[in-house]
Amino acid sequence: MKVITKIVDLQNELFAARKEGKEIGLVPTMGALHEGHASLVKRSVKENDITVVSVFLNPTQFNDQGDLDRYPRTLEADCKLLEDCGASYCFAPSVDEMYPTPDERHFEFPPVSTVMEGAKRPGHFNGVCQVVSRLFYIVRPNRAYFGEKDWQQIAVVKQLVKFIGMSDSLQIVECPIIRDEDGLAKSSRNSLLSKDERAIAPAIFKALKESVEYAKNHNVKETHDKVVADINAVEGLEVEYFEIVDGNTLQDVTNWEDSPYVVGCITVYCGKTPIRLIDHIKYKE
Ligand code: AMP
Repeated sequence: MKVITKIVDLQNELFAARKEGKEIGLVPTMGALHEGHASLVKRSVKENDITVVSVFLNPTQFNDQGDLDRYPRTLEADCKLLEDCGASYCFAPSVDEMYPTPDERHFEFPPVSTVMEGAKRPGHFNGVCQVVSRLFYIVRPNRAYFGEKDWQQIAVVKQLVKFIGMSDSLQIVECPIIRDEDGLAKSSRNSLLSKDERAIAPAIFKALKESVEYAKNHNVKETHDKVVADINAVEGLEVEYFEIVDGNTLQDVTNWEDSPYVVGCITVYCGKTPIRLIDHIKYKE
């Protein structure tokens, strides 16, 4: 695996590969890699001749400077994991390399980019679109891999691909969420949890999982309220939002019959710092 920091160097490598008819998979990440990321990389390695993994902590998608400052940076360990997964290139540019001038573009795809995370983290999806579009232009992948962990991000990226006219050449591949044994969704931010915080965090998925059974005999509002109450009952956890939505449009669902595809998306603050954890559950698919 080659570690590349310059856009031109990566483009030269990929130009040669493309000329030989090789197909390229891209896995965008912000580093501090774990098994969730590894599952995306392994899938790309299986489905493409070349896999590029970007490791770039994108400042434009952080609306909270403290969150960016705290974010774990582990490039050496990331490279080891990527090598083990069979990635071809780790693309780890500096901020100046990715943004030689400020990115003034503004992306908005309402309603998918304006609800939930879009509403709670103003500018977040704009930053995601800025960096992901740049990566797509640089790498020109045949396939790009995204985790269902960030459910809403996939919906936004699909809109972005249409908007920048890449729908015919680029496939967005959705990959299932990977969890720790106790159910906690794997996340780079989990390493920031104290021992006590880590011990309570699995209550999030526990409440979500239990609510699937509960939903069989209760309406959407009752199910919503039970999840929020169950999680808020745990000292140290506080639900920021829980929304039961159509899995594609992300529009609120009021009755289970409203959509064939119903997902609950949640964000919970954990502990004193606090660390913001996200998760989801599928009610109907
Ligand atoms: P991040 O480094 O957090 O930006 O994540 C990079 C990619 O890995 C995104 O597409 C995430 O959705 C995906 N990802 C992160 N955690 C997980 C997980 N636990 N399971 C599956 N995919 C994940």
